[in-house]
Amino acid sequence: MKTFRFDILTLFPNLCESYLTDSILKRALEDNKIEVHFHNIRDFSQDKHKKVDDTPYGGGAGMIMTPQPLYDCITHVKTLNNGPVIYMSPTGQELNQKLVQNLSKTKTQSLIILCGRYEGIDQRIIDLLVDQEISIGQYVLTGGELPALVVLDAVARLLPGVLGDELSHQTDSFSDHLQGKKQHPIYTKPAEFQGLKVPDVLLSGNHGEIEKWQQNNLKNAND
Ligand code: SAM
Repeated sequence: MKTFRFDILTLFPNLCESYLTDSILKRALEDNKIEVHFHNIRDFSQDKHKKVDDTPYGGGAGMIMTPQPLYDCITHVKTLNNGPVIYMSPTGQELNQKLVQNLSKTKTQSLIILCGRYEGIDQRIIDLLVDQEISIGQYVLTGGELPALVVLDAVARLLPGVLGDELSHQTDSFSDHLQGKKQHPIYTKPAEFQGLKVPDVLLSGNHGEIEKWQQNNLKNAND
C-alpha cells in the first residue's frame, strides 16, 4: 500500500506539527503509512516585509490573504503532490464520515490542504487552484489549522494498518457497518463503578444477545 501523503499549507506550521508527535499518528508516520509535509505560506511572499495580507476591496473589516504568496506556494507544492487542493473554509461542503471515506480513497493517495487566516483568502486563488472547499461545521474559527488537522486525523485512521485493530473503525459511529448511526454505549472493567453496573447482557458471553443489545442501542445520526 502506497504511503498516503498530506501537504499542509499554513502561516503557522508549528501549531500543527506538535499534533503529530504522539499517539496513533506518530506511529503511522514511523510506519510510513502516512507522510506529512508543512509549507509556510509566508516563505513564498515576494514582499520585502514578507507581508501576506491586505485590506479588502469594497471595504469591510479585517484583512484578506493576498493571492501571490498563496499562488506560488500552491503551485510549488503541486510539483511535489498531484492530489486535489482542499481549502478549509466555513463556506465549504460540511465534513462527514462519507466525505472522509471518499478522501481516504483519493486516487493519488494524497491531499494538499490549505489553511486560511484573517478573513480568508482572495477568491481568485479558489477559482484558479482549489479543487474542493471543506468546512468542519457551522461555526467560525480563527484559522484553518485545526480544520486541516481534523481532516488529516479522520482520513489517516481509515487507512489500512493505521489503527492497531483493523476492525475498530468499521464499528465506529457513522460507519457503513452501523448504517450511518452513532455507536452504542461502551463499557470496560470494572463491572460495577460508583454503584453503576455494566448491563448484564454484556457480561453474558452470548454473542447473539450482545449484538442485539448493541443494535438496539445505536443512536440516530441526528440525535
Ligand atoms: N470570513 C470568513 C467567513 O466569514 O466565512 C471566515 C474566515 S476565518 C476567521 C479564517 C480561516 O479559518 C478561514 O479562511 C478557514 O481557513 C478557517 N476556518 C474557520 N472556520 C472554519 C470552519 N468551520 N471550517 C473550515 N475552516 C474554517
